[in-house]
Amino acid sequence: MDNIVLNDLIKKVAEYNIEAVETVKKAYDYAKKLHDGQVRQSGEPYITHPLNVAYILADMHADMDTLCAGLLHDTLEDTNIIKKDIEYDFNKDVANLVDGVTKISKMNFSSKQDQNMANTRKIITSITEDVRIIIIKLADRLHNMRTLQFKSEFKQKENALETMEIFAPLAYYIGAYRIKSELEDLSLRYLKPDMYKKIEEKKIKLEEESNKCLQEMLFKIHTLLNDNKIPNEIKLRTKNIYGIYKRLNEGQRLSDIHDLFALKIMVDKIANCYNALGLIHDLYHPINNKFKDYICNPKTNMYRSLHSTLFGPAAITVQTQIRTFDMDKIASFGLTAYWDIAKGNARDIMQKDLKEKFQFFKSLIEMNSIFGDNQEFVNQVKRELFSDRIYVYTTKGEIIELPKGATPIDFAYKLSTDIGNTMVGAFVNDEYVPVDYVLKNKDRVRIVTDELSFGPREEWAEKAHTSYAKKMIKELINK
Ligand code: MN
Repeated sequence: MDNIVLNDLIKKVAEYNIEAVETVKKAYDYAKKLHDGQVRQSGEPYITHPLNVAYILADMHADMDTLCAGLLHDTLEDTNIIKKDIEYDFNKDVANLVDGVTKISKMNFSSKQDQNMANTRKIITSITEDVRIIIIKLADRLHNMRTLQFKSEFKQKENALETMEIFAPLAYYIGAYRIKSELEDLSLRYLKPDMYKKIEEKKIKLEEESNKCLQEMLFKIHTLLNDNKIPNEIKLRTKNIYGIYKRLNEGQRLSDIHDLFALKIMVDKIANCYNALGLIHDLYHPINNKFKDYICNPKTNMYRSLHSTLFGPAAITVQTQIRTFDMDKIASFGLTAYWDIAKGNARDIMQKDLKEKFQFFKSLIEMNSIFGDNQEFVNQVKRELFSDRIYVYTTKGEIIELPKGATPIDFAYKLSTDIGNTMVGAFVNDEYVPVDYVLKNKDRVRIVTDELSFGPREEWAEKAHTSYAKKMIKELINK
């Protein structure tokens, strides 16, 4: 939406939280007065930026404190008020959120200065205190990326790279797929403009060519489910440009991308996901090895859905993603879906879920406790969390997330320290492997343990890839 005005924000907020409207207005006036006279590089008054940030947050159905903090997010940095003022005029939570976002803004990931490293650490660990800080920062970055055309070419490339390396992965980790996809595409547009254009043109052409078939499938499936009394809603989506770019880079051709087109099929309850799957497989033949059950095996960022790729009409292949309406909210908004679906205090539930369900979060806390030195900490986070990830299975079919380069030793320590400390060997896909075997996506890993073993040998510290495994081995040896 272009040229958002206060009224658009108010309308959006009123749709889901009428009680917040007055306070949001107050925060807008407050920020407007403070930023008075400041202009953006586009020539617009500065307030348009926080207003757009708040609008992005309202679109995610953010709570009142988050909306206020979105409107005030640049006031500590760019005007002469202090944290205490916000605390006095609003409340402590809003003040903390604005303060957290301000600290993040001062960091620069590409620089090696101590000051920056300390700040970077603050940002990364701020997520452990209140994940809403990161969510506001993501909205802030999204609006800045949407208006990047007004910056110098150097700034464009610098921001795009940082967005690709840090913010898109962060959005992925909290499951905010919508923001993640848009951030990726905006970044690619500035990092590889020619490539971006080429893929975009091809994508539009393919969409036009396939539209008739896709609409036919959508209609037939919708009718079929209705006839079987399964309440449903179906949406069509095409892979984002960056997603296509990645596949092409891996050597695939556009026509090989089996999930280029997807039908998102939302139904009322879990049992009907499986019922719908059976009905749909009867209508269109599935490709046998392209079925995934992420309902029973959720992804590590809570994503749940059934995936099955079908042979559609006119030789196109189409992926179906079958899930409940609530799962779909989580698929689009991740952790922030709790603003909508939580019955109690959404913030506490987000924080609790982060601790219990998100594997990256555990790794983050471990690294924070292992590395005293800021530079080492930031490097390690970049290496282990913001680099390519692989996903492997336990013997029970649970999905475990590890950095690329991880070995069975890392896998064992990720399961538990006890398993790591008593490990004597490992099987991958039923074959015995050396302990420094480099794990690949979808490997099935079984760790052999022996209570009487003397524990891992010294050289295993070198063979492990993750900081946690290395640290645990060294500690055990020192004992
Ligand atoms: Mn900002």
